[in-house]
Amino acid sequence: MARTDTIVLGAGIVGTSIAVHLAKRGLSVALIDRGKPGEETSYGNAGVIEASTILPPAFPASISALLRVAFKRASEANYHFGFLPHVAPWLFAFRAASQPKRIAETARLNRPLFSRALAEHEALMVEAGVLDLLRKTGWLKLYRRQRALRSMQLEFDLAQEFGLPLETLDAAAARLLEPQLRPVFELAVFWPKAASISDPLALTQAYARRFTSLGGVILQGDARSLHRSGSGWRVEMTDGPLDTDNVVAALGPWAPDLLEPLGIKLPMAVKRGYHRHFRGDNGASLSRPVVDVDFGYLITPMRQGIRLTTGAEFASRDAPATPVQFERLMPRARSLFPLGEQADERTWLGARPTFPDSRPVIGPAPGQSGLWLGIGHAHWGLTLGPITGRLLADMITGATPVVDPAPYRAERFM
Ligand SMILES: Cc1cc2nc3c(=O)[nH]c(=O)nc-3n(C[C@H](O)[C@H](O)[C@H](O)COP(=O)(O)OP(=O)(O)OC[C@H]3O[C@@H](n4cnc5c(N)ncnc54)[C@H](O)[C@@H]3O)c2cc1C
Repeated sequence: MARTDTIVLGAGIVGTSIAVHLAKRGLSVALIDRGKPGEETSYGNAGVIEASTILPPAFPASISALLRVAFKRASEANYHFGFLPHVAPWLFAFRAASQPKRIAETARLNRPLFSRALAEHEALMVEAGVLDLLRKTGWLKLYRRQRALRSMQLEFDLAQEFGLPLETLDAAAARLLEPQLRPVFELAVFWPKAASISDPLALTQAYARRFTSLGGVILQGDARSLHRSGSGWRVEMTDGPLDTDNVVAALGPWAPDLLEPLGIKLPMAVKRGYHRHFRGDNGASLSRPVVDVDFGYLITPMRQGIRLTTGAEFASRDAPATPVQFERLMPRARSLFPLGEQADERTWLGARPTFPDSRPVIGPAPGQSGLWLGIGHAHWGLTLGPITGRLLADMITGATPVVDPAPYRAERFM
């Protein structure tokens, strides 16, 4: 019978990073996915290592913003009407967590992870030999109206508290950074400490190669076959069972498929998001990710072209794609930047696995000894993969945790 010290279920950026960190502690590790590393949610994201992110996205604060979403006029959000009754409890909890006091608390509780995120990535990129994928050029957030500045006081106060630099720029100064942007905006905030990746799939694949170079094994299998075996755990593989004492669930938006049959019900919803790739007209390009905040989309240079990613869509994880947000935002995007033809046919759809308090769950699974969770990384799974890996490896091996894991415990929902 095959046996390994640990099994990691799910080879997205989170699971692969966890597997690398466990292998670096000298444990034998099997990383199991039904597909290949990095090809799901971790493929299609915007590639931002959000080291300077402070506040999570919030429930719309104004009635007018809410009505625009409700009447499907907003480009930043969409929803499937029939899904609303299912997601209503989550939305109420999300709205409560969006109150100024709560959201500031979230920023402080998440900060220990975000502040270490870039250094953790850089260390793994050096080991994996892919530092060339990293751009330390910050990111630029654009606002169509100068008055947007009035709503940013909390974020700026917290930036000062966390020692995070930022620059407020007018359109002319922003265009010194990104000359191809057209001056359809009045205000920009430049966050120099953010970084970005030119190919998120290549990054996870490189971390997976680093994992195998440390002796780790990557196997194809179905995580849902996990079950108790004596005091440990067993995963049924095609060539026979694989046993372990410690198993980590890092299944991104598919985590409930594994956890709910085990009696672990956590309030995870998905914020679906899309991307398309474009050519820059006459070779126009960007040096960093740019967010058009009022319309809720992002454009960023990737190996495949300019990647345009959308905001949140509230719909069942597995419902057919409804990429209507592109129709609403493309005129805005084309007026901001000279986007040419679509570089490939594909409209990619992914799902951000999100808890209503915008904190991930990292730590032991409630009531199931030997089962660990690294899930719910929402808008920041790429950012937080490696620090999640280090924290879980600390906990599993009994080392002093790199940060206090208390804010990320699953028990906060029980
Ligand atoms: C449009 C968009 C833009 C984003 N932009 C950013 C960004 O700029 N920066 C950032 O930090 N984050 C961003 N994110 C979020 C980020 O992409 C996710 O948080 C992250 O990819 C989640 O990683 P994961 O490893 O948890 O999940 P995944 O990458 O989805 O990995 C889960 C793995 O589990 C496997 N799996 C599922 N079910 C089974 C099963 N039954 N058996 C075996 N294997 C299974 C899947 O095949 C998959 O490989 C964005 C997300 C979207 C949708």
